[in-house]
Amino acid sequence: MSVFVLDRSKKPLMPCSEKRARKLLTAGRARVHRMYPFTIRLLDRTAEDSALQPLRLSIDPGSKATGLALCRVEDRVDADTGEAGEPALHIVALVELVHRGQAIRDSLRRRAMLRRSRRGRNTRYRAPRFDNRGGKRTGWLAPSLLHRVETTLTWVRRLRRWAPVSELAQELVRFDMQLMQARAAGKGIEGVEYQRGELAGFEVGEYLLAKWGRRCAYCDAEGVPLEKDHIVARARGGSDRVSNLALACRPCNRAKGAQDVGEFLAHAPARLARILAHAKAPLKDAAAVNATRWRLFNDLKSTGLPLQTASGGRTKFNRTRLALPKTHVLDAACVGRVGEVLRTAQPTLQVQCNGRGSRSRTRLDAHGFPRGYLMREKSVLGFRTGDMVHATVPASSRKAGTWVGRVAVRSSGSFNVQTAAGTVQGINHRHCRVLMRGDGYGYQLVAQHRKESGYRDGASRRALSLFGLKAEVSRAV
Ligand SMILES: [Zn+2]
Repeated sequence: MSVFVLDRSKKPLMPCSEKRARKLLTAGRARVHRMYPFTIRLLDRTAEDSALQPLRLSIDPGSKATGLALCRVEDRVDADTGEAGEPALHIVALVELVHRGQAIRDSLRRRAMLRRSRRGRNTRYRAPRFDNRGGKRTGWLAPSLLHRVETTLTWVRRLRRWAPVSELAQELVRFDMQLMQARAAGKGIEGVEYQRGELAGFEVGEYLLAKWGRRCAYCDAEGVPLEKDHIVARARGGSDRVSNLALACRPCNRAKGAQDVGEFLAHAPARLARILAHAKAPLKDAAAVNATRWRLFNDLKSTGLPLQTASGGRTKFNRTRLALPKTHVLDAACVGRVGEVLRTAQPTLQVQCNGRGSRSRTRLDAHGFPRGYLMREKSVLGFRTGDMVHATVPASSRKAGTWVGRVAVRSSGSFNVQTAAGTVQGINHRHCRVLMRGDGYGYQLVAQHRKESGYRDGASRRALSLFGLKAEVSRAV
């Protein structure tokens, strides 16, 4: 992963390699500005006399985790036509933002339960209240969803502070209706791979997944490889239109073969009627995009940076074409116009949204009785829960070794350190040194495993079978 570089007045410069950062630090030309992500500040340089290159920040918003990929954009020119081609992206930094939507939901539910029980108590002398709920404003998002939008924006803002981001790319819709319709109407669309029609195939794939709820239309099987199935078989004159396509698992697809759908489902007339009705009903455009992504889109627009949006079909197309493993961060790198993605085998900075603790000082058991009490003071001997620490425990101790991670403090001065390998308990405060103060996030550098790379991973293989493509891969990761 590259190192972020700031100038004397904390303005962002182009990120540099780890080796260069080490040289700058040993030569005394730079100071450490921040540990996670590692950022240095040059003492003898200003942004004005430095050359900057275009940097793209691509975002793949997800429900549990959002992938962010910061890439240097290298424009490519088509050798034959002399026209601008799809750019090559050199990955600079990969950040996976792990959301805490479920934790927010749980804690709000606990609060609601507490308030409900309190409302029921001792109400004899309380004036009755009614009609005191204001209703929801338009554009209201549930707190757990709003959190996703806001942390993503926070990280876009942060990354812009550490690197000279010049453009944004966001996956906005799951599939591109316009492209599908243009293809159906036989219109020519710009770009090479559009003409090949493969991209449109991926859009159709994403559309079908959304329409049929990621399950087999004939047996409701989930989590198995799904294939495109012609409801009226092509051998019987069935068309390639999406209204004639369904998803089927391999056994069902094989069993159906070129049979008439009425014949195949003769034993289940209710299912037959349901499938035929469902196939005819077009999925609305709205089904392709959810409220969270729209909100994020509008907020990203207000940054003033050029923002390109793309569909999930395109992301999957790029990822499959480039034979990249399915991870949140590499999906992000594949968002939008991408010719090639380079330097993919880099560790990912996993950023866990932890929040800043709770105000409640009483821990309850499953029945609501006090189980224990948290400390009044959040700070113990100069440490706070959430700080990133470096602990060097001498060989005489049972916990001997060097541990780096998020600390959880105890009033006894014996702390727990959450490392990449797991939690190490009972580390004395004397061995700990603060690397970075807690800022509501936990940080971990995670290596991408080689065995997950390429089309061999199940998800990519399923995608390939769904879109009827051969697993031909030109480049391994
Ligand atoms: Zn099936």
